[in-house]
Amino acid sequence: MSGAADVAVPVLRVDDVYKSFGSVPVLRGIDLVVHQHEVVALIGASGSGKSTLLRVINLLERVDDGQVWLTGRDISDPRANGDAVRARIGVVFQQFNLFPHLSVLDNVTLASRIVHRVPRRTAEARGLELLDQIGLSAKARDFPDRLSGGQQQRAAIVRAIMTDPELLLLDEVTSALDPELVGEVLDLVRQLKQSGTTIVMATHEMGFARDVADRVAFIDAGRVLEFGPPEQVFDAPREPRTRAFLARIP
Ligand code: ADP
Ligand code: MG
Repeated sequence: MSGAADVAVPVLRVDDVYKSFGSVPVLRGIDLVVHQHEVVALIGASGSGKSTLLRVINLLERVDDGQVWLTGRDISDPRANGDAVRARIGVVFQQFNLFPHLSVLDNVTLASRIVHRVPRRTAEARGLELLDQIGLSAKARDFPDRLSGGQQQRAAIVRAIMTDPELLLLDEVTSALDPELVGEVLDLVRQLKQSGTTIVMATHEMGFARDVADRVAFIDAGRVLEFGPPEQVFDAPREPRTRAFLARIP
């Protein structure tokens, strides 16, 4: 094929990916394409494979079959270097993201200094600038346990974007937070979208997914059962299983 549509290489292409744990198939032929500046929300029941998919993209797990392409390179090739791939992808999990024995600023600058060999002074200037943007510069020298859960998650997100990753993966980043702290973290994600960050996020926050995601993927038993703009997936789902899932959400 040729033509304008082929020119833009997607940031992420997941192509018929399979992954089992022992004899349990968890990903069963996942396809997903994410373009630059796009925010894609992964929704689906607990246990449907969302976290496993994110871990496969980040090479924390290796695929059994299929391919994962990051800006046109096959990172699922067994010879791909996991550390090198992870240096190009930012990731934030549900909890325990920050190293408790390092200051917030050291947490935020660590990868930049160690993996990307940015001089400490440069990394700290950038780290302080980003922390300032989220109102946390006064906490830079504190240990994480002095921060609220919402502040910790925002610092973890700042850490993940410090190195300008090609792709940011967010796995239920608000699920462990007290309800009153969820908003500040979602606001930061919204800001990142506005600044053009390419994001794949597993989330239970359907309102947020509808509001912020460009496309929503409904994951069901290790497959992408439905993938489209939020209006389609939420308001006019094609698949009965999507409707059933959404009907169970309060
Ligand atoms: P989700 O994030 O959608 O809740 P997960 O990807 O965490 O789903 O899990 C999907 C399934 O894979 C679950 O049944 C889970 O128990 C199983 N699973 C995930 N990780 C492992 C693992 N390391 N070993 C064995 N089973 C796993
Ligand atoms: Mg999960």
